[in-house]
Amino acid sequence: MNSKSTSPLLPAANPPAWLGVMGGGQLGRMFAQAAQSMGYQVAVLEPSDACPAGQVAQRLVNAGYSDAAGLDALAAQCLAVTTEFENVPADSLSRLAERVFVAPNAHGVSVAQDRIAEKRFFVDCAAKSGVLPAPHTVIATQLDIDAIADDLLPGILKTVRMGYDGKGQFRVRTRDEVRVAFAEMGEVTCLLEKMLPLAYEVSVLTARGVDGESVVYPIAENVHRDGVLFTTTVPGPNVSDDCAARAQRAAQAMVAELGYVGVLCIEFFVLEDGSLVVNEMAPRPHNSGHYTMDACVTSQFAQQVRAMARLPLGDVRQHSPAVMLNILGDAWFADGSDAAIEPAWDQVLALPGACLHLYGKDDPRRGRKMGHLTFIAATLPEAQQRLRDACLILGIAP
Ligand code: ATP
Ligand code: MG
Repeated sequence: MNSKSTSPLLPAANPPAWLGVMGGGQLGRMFAQAAQSMGYQVAVLEPSDACPAGQVAQRLVNAGYSDAAGLDALAAQCLAVTTEFENVPADSLSRLAERVFVAPNAHGVSVAQDRIAEKRFFVDCAAKSGVLPAPHTVIATQLDIDAIADDLLPGILKTVRMGYDGKGQFRVRTRDEVRVAFAEMGEVTCLLEKMLPLAYEVSVLTARGVDGESVVYPIAENVHRDGVLFTTTVPGPNVSDDCAARAQRAAQAMVAELGYVGVLCIEFFVLEDGSLVVNEMAPRPHNSGHYTMDACVTSQFAQQVRAMARLPLGDVRQHSPAVMLNILGDAWFADGSDAAIEPAWDQVLALPGACLHLYGKDDPRRGRKMGHLTFIAATLPEAQQRLRDACLILGIAP
């Protein structure tokens, strides 16, 4: 379905206009920083008053994501509004859109925030994109569990809404295990996906402007650890030119089919036989796109600003090979100790090509995303070696 809610004839929002963002996390913070460096003023809507984006924005609208007064305040101040997390209520985006340009719009976000709608979109779009999602079925009741086709097991049971960083997922081998996992999740509607033999994982970051022009960044190869993104490497050591071309074509077909305006990241699996399977999409900049901040002409956050401000999209060219490492709160704790220590940033930053980004979170906890570190170098092996050096300094198993 194409849903262009706004006329392409709307003029660009030039700096120093106000731009708004729904959500105050690190993605909102880096969006605000990119917008401000282009001369914009930024307002953040976020219920918690100590948030990464609130620290840097010119204005923090301290309100819930569905709070009518808060939404109206954001709409009154800003010329355009975007979002930094996919679980923003679609109704809130619709309310904003009555008064202000919203990119991405409620349609694009609502597809990405519901795994059933997302899978349906991938299937509907397969003739154009050339890729399918994993075989799957909806589990809403015990009867659905009885009816599971044998070849969907072993599989992964995922909540339909609000899953992230591997939360809200259970690996299941048998129908009985599905029953246990379904009960464990409070019998909320879930999706059972067949467990596929992954060779590796990639993501494709794309952006589309209100004029329908789209761009696609170099494909990124991702390694997860404990369900959380661990590293992103670009160019991906395993990615063939053919695979990159297929994934990029698929991503551009999808962003066009959605009639999307903004930055969209699509995750794919590459299977052991080389085939490509689409996993999920995020209607915003993505953790796997952080490398663009230091390795590409236009970062994913600057691209988000351009798309929502209805400016020409920026050059996506990558000028240096890059490896990105997520820095979790674990880096503040020595093995087996609960006493927080200061990571040796001086040693990390002594490594050539180190680009450190910390999100201003003052409470390091194990597993919490505190920042990321990107190494750029003349060659990929050099960047990878620096990353291993940094892991050693930070006490992270490389
Ligand atoms: P995030 O928000 O961090 O991307 P998520 O919680 O939304 O994660 P998924 O991306 O769907 O969840 O799954 C997390 C990880 O689990 C994937 O990156 C992949 O490693 C593995 N995984 C998910 N689905 C499958 C599958 N069908 N077959 C094999 N592995 C899978
Ligand atoms: Mg994922």
